[in-house]
Amino acid sequence: FASGEDNDVVVIGGGPGGYVAAIKAAQLGFKTTCIEKRGSLGGTCLNVGCIPSKALLHSSHMFHEAKHTFSKHGVKVSGVDIDVAAMMAQKEQAVSGLTKGIEGLFKKNKVTYVKGSGKIVSPNEVAVELVDSGGSQSVKGKHIIIATGSDVKGLPGITIDEKKVVSSTGALALAEVPDKMVVIGAGYIGLEMGSVWGRLGSEVTVVEFGDVIVPSMDAEVRKTFQRSLEKQKMKFVMKTKVVKVEESGSGLKLSLEAASGGSPSSLEADVVLVAAGRSPYTKGLGLEEVGIKLDKMGRVEVDDHFRTSVPSVYAIGDVIRGPMLAHKAEEDGVACVELIAGKAGHVNYDTVPGIVYTHPEVASVGKTEEQVKALGIAYSVGKFPMMANSRARTIDDAEGIVKIIAEKESDKILGIHIMASNAGEMIHEACLALEYGASSEDIARTCHGHPTLSEAVKEAAMATYDKSIHF
Ligand code: FAD
Repeated sequence: FASGEDNDVVVIGGGPGGYVAAIKAAQLGFKTTCIEKRGSLGGTCLNVGCIPSKALLHSSHMFHEAKHTFSKHGVKVSGVDIDVAAMMAQKEQAVSGLTKGIEGLFKKNKVTYVKGSGKIVSPNEVAVELVDSGGSQSVKGKHIIIATGSDVKGLPGITIDEKKVVSSTGALALAEVPDKMVVIGAGYIGLEMGSVWGRLGSEVTVVEFGDVIVPSMDAEVRKTFQRSLEKQKMKFVMKTKVVKVEESGSGLKLSLEAASGGSPSSLEADVVLVAAGRSPYTKGLGLEEVGIKLDKMGRVEVDDHFRTSVPSVYAIGDVIRGPMLAHKAEEDGVACVELIAGKAGHVNYDTVPGIVYTHPEVASVGKTEEQVKALGIAYSVGKFPMMANSRARTIDDAEGIVKIIAEKESDKILGIHIMASNAGEMIHEACLALEYGASSEDIARTCHGHPTLSEAVKEAAMATYDKSIHF
């Protein structure tokens, strides 16, 4: 070590990328420090992302079920009502339990946790403004990992106040159910948060600039998914942009325009959720001063080994290329540290699953039919409707489909797309199949437990290279 480098690894940011990298580094024997400015660990995901949103999705689903489906199953309940404060308290409990759990993991693995905002001042030094004392500290290290994540992307003409005009953060903490909610952006965050408040009684309208919802989804699955959301009374205004949001009486007035220009219209709302995407977060990090390059989209540029343009500095997670997802950030974190340790770290972005936690859920891994077609690959498709799956029928929750796309000649699976009540859990045999280069016949000939939703994956696989049995 050069003199003064008292850490092997210094991680800036304690989100799923950063805290996982820090734990892995310590496990590999590195002296490790993690710097986080939020005051709690877990990053966007645990504090204002994955975890609180899934807590509210579950609570609101329970409310909706109690109101609309319990009676069909002979479960009699009356006076079903929602206590938003209690629902938020349960969400807070889940969040604080998990964030404190990471502090415990840091102690267990001997990761030093510095609460403060880090700025890279040289290739081996981070200056930290401490959160609690207001003082500053210098943290030196042989390797620095940037894991500062992402932040909400704003829109011109719209000021987020986190009360009436909210980002996902405000939408996770509303004090009451708004009568009318407008969601700007039909990505997975907008659809999940729209579902939460829609189930609790809001009239939800989604305004989307593009002509499709969740553009990364297989088109056939997407169409089925949109129909399902429409059945749940979610309204969609496509190819439209919101140009202004202003106070109007006790509510808000939105001025809209056709995406292609002209054709003005308006909408009223009590709450507007801006869910138009997220931007990599590099503010105040001192990147320019030390010569760390950004790409055209403002992300930290890295090579295949997560190295930035400064050899001792690495970057992972939402702040670099690839899908902005917690599990991808975690994979980056582990691989980056393994590479620093001289091991063979690697992340296959082609097998990172994408999951929308609405009801039904939509999960996918690999290529969509449109992507396969565009690549000019000859392919076969196998499909199986959840309506023909016995477990789904047993629990009276049979909306959805499994779709498998395989290379025609070799039968090697290229993509699996699932819409089902539990798709987010079902997708992992698909991830494993893709990771191991399985054929559809491999899945079809693997014995699946009965009765399970996963049998629909086996049946879709049978339909890909031959015929399904139950449809
Ligand atoms: P982050 O989690 O953003 O963490 C970065 C951390 O760095 C932050 O805590 C920040 O305070 C800290 N930081 C930044 N700058 C500094 C600095 N200079 N000094 C010190 N600390 C700093 N992904 C999923 O996979 N599944 C989901 O279900 C899911 N749901 C989501 C729902 C919502 C509403 C949102 C907003 C996101 C969701 N995501 C989900 C995305 C997921 O949260 C991110 O992909 C993930 O958190 C990225 O991890 P990260 O470690 O790269 O960054």
